[in-house]
Amino acid sequence: MPDSTRPSTTRSDDSPDIHYRPLPPLKLALARTLHATGLSAVGRRMQRLFKGPHIRVINCHELLPSAAHNFDEQVRFYAQHYAPVGPQELDDFHAGRWNAKRPGLIITFDDGWQCQARYAPPILERHGFVGWFFIPVGFVEEPHARFVRQHMRGGDLNPMTWDDLRRLSRKHVIGGHTYSHLELPAGTSQAVLQHELVDSKRRLESELDREITSFAWVRGRECDYGPEASQVIARAGYRHVFLTTSGVLHRGDSLLKIPRTNIEARYPPWLVTYALNGIPDLLGRSRRRRIEHILDQRDVPIFPRSTQSPLA
Ligand SMILES: [Zn+2]
Repeated sequence: MPDSTRPSTTRSDDSPDIHYRPLPPLKLALARTLHATGLSAVGRRMQRLFKGPHIRVINCHELLPSAAHNFDEQVRFYAQHYAPVGPQELDDFHAGRWNAKRPGLIITFDDGWQCQARYAPPILERHGFVGWFFIPVGFVEEPHARFVRQHMRGGDLNPMTWDDLRRLSRKHVIGGHTYSHLELPAGTSQAVLQHELVDSKRRLESELDREITSFAWVRGRECDYGPEASQVIARAGYRHVFLTTSGVLHRGDSLLKIPRTNIEARYPPWLVTYALNGIPDLLGRSRRRRIEHILDQRDVPIFPRSTQSPLA
């Protein structure tokens, strides 16, 4: 992987156009040092020894032409150290039937930008990976709506079309990401949950003529997750549900709370190896536990109160 594309920004959540902030200088220095000394690679290998069989999930967003070569090198690296995981392998791992010698890896893309449909498939397929693409259905359905325009930046960063998704779904996984890219905190009303989680799933299934079983929550703060939404997600038939907190999936872990590690296509090798060395998993552990506690709450009454959308 070329080391020339130093990122000046990162995201604090999974939205493509807001909340960029500079990486803390201390973190950058640590990532560079751990990479240069080989300690990040040691950390990654130690996970194989001490964490046992596990699957890591990566999430990214834009894949602009300027980052395509870098992403190709990233996926080449992944192919050398991880085993590709699709839905069947994920289910088999969970059931104890998948025993690859290397840790598993799932590569996911959020938000359904056209650049993902254009540039990701040939790179993923060249290295034997299946891409998992999480789509806010409203971006496809109403590309001129205000809640979509707030996210769009034109060109490659326009939403995919239904034709893009139909082509993509032939070899890759399409999953839900709400209808309007909406956080679903505690107290979200039944009507909003029905629209964002159930109706949007049916719309994807109708257009793509296949069952949609995967879903990724929007953003990654504790306040973005609610127990009512968690219940509706499970009842709606989503079986593979992804969070946005760093960690790995062990055998026996719930497939309704799969952690994801953010590694953007433009990230240089030293930042990739840092993200995979186990330290971000440790740093995010307490937040991940608190989110899991929220999602584990059961029998929460679903209030009629409407949730105010921050995108509205
Ligand atoms: Zn998103």
